Amino acid sequence: MIAIRRPEEIERIAESARIVAGALSGVAERIRAGVTTQELEEGIEDYIRSQGARPSFKGYRGFPASACISINDVVVHGIPSERRLREGDIVSVDVGAYKDGYHGDGAWTFPVGEIAAAAARLMEVTHGALERGIARALPGARLGEVSHAVQAYVESHGYSIVRALVGHGIGEQLHEDPQVPNFGSPRQGPVLRAGMVMAIEPMVNAGGFQVYTEADEWTVVSRDHSLSAHFEHTVAITDEGPRILTQPSPALALRGTA
Ligand code: MG
Repeated sequence: MIAIRRPEEIERIAESARIVAGALSGVAERIRAGVTTQELEEGIEDYIRSQGARPSFKGYRGFPASACISINDVVVHGIPSERRLREGDIVSVDVGAYKDGYHGDGAWTFPVGEIAAAAARLMEVTHGALERGIARALPGARLGEVSHAVQAYVESHGYSIVRALVGHGIGEQLHEDPQVPNFGSPRQGPVLRAGMVMAIEPMVNAGGFQVYTEADEWTVVSRDHSLSAHFEHTVAITDEGPRILTQPSPALALRGTA
């Protein structure tokens, strides 16, 4: 059952999503070699709370932090730690915020200093795949059109779309119906309607699509240890077209990608 949100509900999701985008913009300003992922985590949590929200992820199924911070071959769900970022790392940061009864969810992959051209290309293609998926999030389309647009773009560049994790509807719950796969046939899935809100979030590996979960039961890593990137927006489907609620600030320009 996919919720159709009233305009005032969408505005509440938009407020939580705005806080997510603000937290990610703060990361863009602070990320550099030598910073620990725990320091990024603290900045994110402080910002979310300063906006009258709470971090959606903290305590979610036991997750211990406000942000998932995933370095290089870590796909998603990395736990912040005392690990220091190094020049050339790529770092995916996933943030959720909950305010006035509604969640927002977004992720961005950041370069640390100068990164290899291959890493920059992976980030650019992953972001491009998200944009292409969002463009298909239109009333009357099948959800599979979103999924297929993401997969086709990623695979046309020789990369792999992760299959083990998917996007999701979002609202009063962080994860709601429908599941939003980043792969599949354009003829599959429910028909989209104005008022649906979903988190679209391609996770792209430079090598194979397979992943495994480390012993901490959270950290998801590419099985061949190839680099992985992740971008996510909370998107409302409207009669005027897709509305990105986690609207990036200029600080969130795709740095490090020409
Ligand atoms: Mg999500």
